[in-house]
Amino acid sequence: MSGRINVMAPWLGHEEADALAEVVASGWVAQGPRVAQFEHEFAAAMQAPFAVATSSCTTALHLALIVAGIGVGDDVVVPSFSFIATTNAVRYVGANPVFADVDAMTGNLTSETVSAALTPATRAVIAVDQGGVPVDLDGVRAAADPRGVVVIEDAACGAGSTYRGRPVGAGAEITAWSFHPRKLLTTGEGGMLTTRREEWADRARRLREHAMSVSAADRHASVLAPAERYAEVGFNYRMTDLQAAVGLVQLARLPEIVARRREIAARYQAAVADIPGLRTVADPAHGSSNFQSFWVEVGEDYPLDRDELLRALARADISARRGIMAAHRQPPYRALTPEAGLPATERLHDGTLILPVYHQLTDEDQQRVIAVLRSAGGERA
Ligand SMILES: *Cc1c(COP(=O)(O)O)cnc(C)c1O
Repeated sequence: MSGRINVMAPWLGHEEADALAEVVASGWVAQGPRVAQFEHEFAAAMQAPFAVATSSCTTALHLALIVAGIGVGDDVVVPSFSFIATTNAVRYVGANPVFADVDAMTGNLTSETVSAALTPATRAVIAVDQGGVPVDLDGVRAAADPRGVVVIEDAACGAGSTYRGRPVGAGAEITAWSFHPRKLLTTGEGGMLTTRREEWADRARRLREHAMSVSAADRHASVLAPAERYAEVGFNYRMTDLQAAVGLVQLARLPEIVARRREIAARYQAAVADIPGLRTVADPAHGSSNFQSFWVEVGEDYPLDRDELLRALARADISARRGIMAAHRQPPYRALTPEAGLPATERLHDGTLILPVYHQLTDEDQQRVIAVLRSAGGERA
């Protein structure tokens, strides 16, 4: 045995360091030309007409809800089976999160689970590509569109995943992305909104910068800066040019990152197929995952339960993680749990763990992980 295996590590190189040095030398480090270039290239890569960079996916979700007109008294359907930011953003605009269950195979909302959660006050659905697995957006839209309910996609984990042959997010009215290091493409912290609605993009662009009529970059460009107006209450949700410079390098690496993750995932899938009681996440019929989070469900036929397997991995110096959280079990949202509960969400939350997957994970280290899964399962490693 040699050394700790972490669950995730970003893949950064000297190209990112060089890009940062260039920004520093330019003397302009706040939101400026590199943010504009990153937006342009990200929009092209994700087949989105408009992109607006933000400080995080959480702030992108907040802006998405505002520009979609969601506010006090509105219900917004969300999966509990997601990072808590998905639900928190709904509260930021004074709306009420309504939890929908997920499909137990994919961990994502479906047409049926969304339909079951709709109320007369529902104005939006936030559909998550959980762990990078593409959500069946057409199914969600089939439930939402006839009621005039806006579909917002939370593609925080989804850069590099596809849905029906296109990048995820391309089919939603508006989509939020994350560049946190836990995701595939990182800028340290950072996020993006993509949309096909120009007026939503324009308003989000102003709102992220205090709702100023003239951007700081434009004011800087003129000797006699024009007077600015603040048409509504805005925010400081800007990305910096330092972050965007890193993002541009990372975006160019994305196809390679996705290919490597899919290779690692395929090796886990082949190994786990022979181990009774374990089931891995897989591509759904309608798309391909970037395997941002590679989860394994520990079933009844496996000799250990989920927490025992986590401990067995930890004894081998392998840092796996409990599966994706269930927001409805956290203190701010406990009172909102639907009457019938969320059976698939609870089953996945209690029974899954996330295995190490990252670009630099060596084949030997992956074999170490697989050996623990086998030997802990009672088979010879
Ligand atoms: C990570 C994540 C977020 C939050 O992203 P930040 O960029 O850290 O704000 C939101 N939703 C989902 C599904 C996530 O996985």
